[in-house]
Amino acid sequence: MKRHLVVTAMLAIAITFTASAQGPAPVTPESLVAAAKRAAGTDYAGTFVRICVAPDNLGGGGGGAARGAAPVARVVPDRATWYARPYKVFDNLYFIGTRIHSSWALTTSDGIIVIDTLFDYASEPEIVDGLTTLGLNPRNIKYVLISHAHGDHDQGAALLQSRYGAKIVMGTADWDSTLQRPASAPGGVPKRDIAVGPEGLKLTLGDTKVDIIATPGHTPGTLSYFFPVKDAGRTLTVAYAGGTAFNFPRQAANFAVYRDSQRKMSEVAEAAGATILMTNHTEFDRAYDRARIAQLPRAAGEKHPYETDAATVLRYFEMSGNCAEAQRLLTK
Ligand SMILES: [Zn+2]
Repeated sequence: MKRHLVVTAMLAIAITFTASAQGPAPVTPESLVAAAKRAAGTDYAGTFVRICVAPDNLGGGGGGAARGAAPVARVVPDRATWYARPYKVFDNLYFIGTRIHSSWALTTSDGIIVIDTLFDYASEPEIVDGLTTLGLNPRNIKYVLISHAHGDHDQGAALLQSRYGAKIVMGTADWDSTLQRPASAPGGVPKRDIAVGPEGLKLTLGDTKVDIIATPGHTPGTLSYFFPVKDAGRTLTVAYAGGTAFNFPRQAANFAVYRDSQRKMSEVAEAAGATILMTNHTEFDRAYDRARIAQLPRAAGEKHPYETDAATVLRYFEMSGNCAEAQRLLTK
């Protein structure tokens, strides 16, 4: 009996030793892409392709001409290619974006928080007119949260600040780049308002709290958010990823910063119990489709088209972190 125990113990040691001698499978760009593909599934297929299969900066790009950066000359595309009508999507959240870029109005007991502001040509018809169409008064906009200082998200900021006195909230590093723009930049240049540093910011307006997280990577001052939405009175938590594409300079350190921000988001999302993932391009979270589907009647027990579950939200950040780490290794 004793001898049997000794043999069992030796076997256990041998198995442990074998396992540690082999170690975990080596982490390679290929294994990270495979893990990201699994994490993405079909929920985040568009984002996976954009940052893991064909990263924007792979061809050595990533400067001012990158997709999403402020264009040099103001080009207004045909309205039929981008205009979307506004939609009430949750009890307290309204889609006022284009078919391509998202802008949201989060309503509170003390006014409206606008999240992202589109290209300048879209901010008046989508945000100002959109709110009015929905029965909301743009004069009640108290805060404008800018996820990052690229023209497709920030060109409406100066308009909302100067016309309605809304406070503009942006990452400190993105304020620095914004304030260097010429006054003739599309949409104008907002005056420096609330700058959010690495510690983030908890913003309260009336009955609503927005947890603002510094997530540098896409730009040095990218901000992401957690906020509550109500679906027929039920409160759900949104994780809003503020910057996605790899159109920054292709350097290992930049990918490391991006990767760490995804890990931070994953931790906060888990603690917050977020069950909805939003981003600021409709290609990444299918915002335009979901906003329209949300208008249709639902069967008993059917979830809101934006609601998933905590594990699905965490898979987004697992994917984005792995894609960044894969590119970091390839960049070394
Ligand atoms: Zn961008």
